[in-house]
Amino acid sequence: MDIKGKVAIVTGAGSGIGRASAIRLAKEGARVVVADVNDAGGAETVAAIAAAGGAAAAVHCDVTKSADIEGMFAFAGRTYGGFDILYNNAGITTGQPRWPDCPEERWLKTIQIDLIAVIESTRKAIPLLKQRGGGVIISTASLAGLFGFAADPVYSAAKHGVVGLTRALAGLKDEANIRVNCVCPGVVNTPLVTSSLQNLNGLALEEARRAFAAMPMIPPEDIAQAVVELIEDEDAAGYAMGITLDQPHRIVPAPINLPISSGDASALRSR
Ligand code: NAD
Repeated sequence: MDIKGKVAIVTGAGSGIGRASAIRLAKEGARVVVADVNDAGGAETVAAIAAAGGAAAAVHCDVTKSADIEGMFAFAGRTYGGFDILYNNAGITTGQPRWPDCPEERWLKTIQIDLIAVIESTRKAIPLLKQRGGGVIISTASLAGLFGFAADPVYSAAKHGVVGLTRALAGLKDEANIRVNCVCPGVVNTPLVTSSLQNLNGLALEEARRAFAAMPMIPPEDIAQAVVELIEDEDAAGYAMGITLDQPHRIVPAPINLPISSGDASALRSR
């Protein structure tokens, strides 16, 4: 898809990866809906885009609220006449103490924001994109969605869910011209990581330092680049794109593929 002239919605665009991606998409000529629960962060992103000569508008959206997701799509309709690209990026980690010792509400919130909200906004976007003749949906999963991330098992479970959803929806490309993909970054230099480090001490801090030494931090602009690649590549559907520092982005294949795997869902239904 040629990004120029398209409308892109980015959730969690008030900070980090979402902000860098919103700025990049605007640079590529998209009009961008900056959606975040943090209104001040959203306003800063819009100001940065406007200062660079781009077009953007902010909408308050708590992705855990179905009504807010509908409101975000309605806002895109009122402001720009609809949308072509949805980037489900908002996310949190479970934090300390590590699961299973954290409060129940904390790990449930991780699943709500990192997985259920992605499923729900994807569900609500599909009919709207169908009406428009197609589009692209991207989500931010994580390398923690591709291997067992011991530091945050619930986060890892939620991100595996996003990867599974993405792969399972590959067939929407042929069915409805909607390409669903996700990015799976390693450690990215954003407030999500830098602020979580501030809350660590003792053994947990030592472990985190070791992990970061093994996985140097990626600038958020590298993730924005991967997002652009997935939007522009007309073949990209059901891809989980692994991103590490200074390495070429790579599509990580599913470990098992059966005849009824993604892409063949319509064949299954017609039986
Ligand atoms: P960040 O904290 O800088 O940005 C996250 C944004 O999401 C914030 O602006 C926050 O206000 C917003 N948000 C949180 N809850 C929300 C909600 N309920 N509704 C709407 N917005 C909400 O973090 P980031 O590192 O830029 O994270 C973006 C995504 O990247 C997340 O999904 C995260 O899991 C993923 N990710 C991050 C890293 C990393 O190392 N930073 C690595 C892999 C994946």
